[in-house]
Amino acid sequence: MNILKDPWAVFFFIAFIGYLAIRGAYARRTNRLEKVHRQVDGQEKFLLILVIGASTLLPLLYLFTPLLSFADYRPPSWFRWCGVAVTAAALWLFWRSHADLGDNWSVSLEVRKEHRLVTDGVYRSIRHPMYASIFLWSIAQVLLLPNWLAGCSALATFSLMYVLRTPREERMMCEFFGQQYRDYMDRTGRLFPRIWPRKQQGSE
Ligand code: SAH
Repeated sequence: MNILKDPWAVFFFIAFIGYLAIRGAYARRTNRLEKVHRQVDGQEKFLLILVIGASTLLPLLYLFTPLLSFADYRPPSWFRWCGVAVTAAALWLFWRSHADLGDNWSVSLEVRKEHRLVTDGVYRSIRHPMYASIFLWSIAQVLLLPNWLAGCSALATFSLMYVLRTPREERMMCEFFGQQYRDYMDRTGRLFPRIWPRKQQGSE
């Protein structure tokens, strides 16, 4: 059981509880708010199950059972310290993006009754800070859990989710917020701030 013999695994587990606590607090807060649009089809459900499995089930198996030990490897020593720094950045951005989205957050593609387009805080220069924080978290998982399955699974599955979901989310936001969202797209980047302004082409 890695949790008993590896202090870095203990660090990952404590951070993991913090990660779940942030999500849990905002999920409770937004749970009862009315939705006017839901785009949760088979693809969306499949992606959610895949990502949740890879980012919770496999790490827990690695931490608390010997089942995944066949996929262990020896990490370079700098991996773990970098993992601590990336974890801190991930948790900060995960918390800030939930705080800034507030009642407009949902785990899947949904629009709420009094949905407001958030363009300030960590949303000022990038459109997907929460996805950026999940990428950071997935990288931290690679750095802190030296196991090919438990370490790399979240990064692989979340990359797939990001590629498939983000264009659909942006189309949904354009449908609901129209020119306001298109203007927002013009001045922001997806995961990194935009360096050059987008070419004005009218609508998307
Ligand atoms: N993609 C964003 C938000 C993820 S949560 C991020 O990575 O930070 C997903 C939900 O957030 C979507 O269903 C959508 O309704 C909502 N959303 C996304 N961007 C938003 C914004 N700028 N303002 C308000 N709601 C937003």
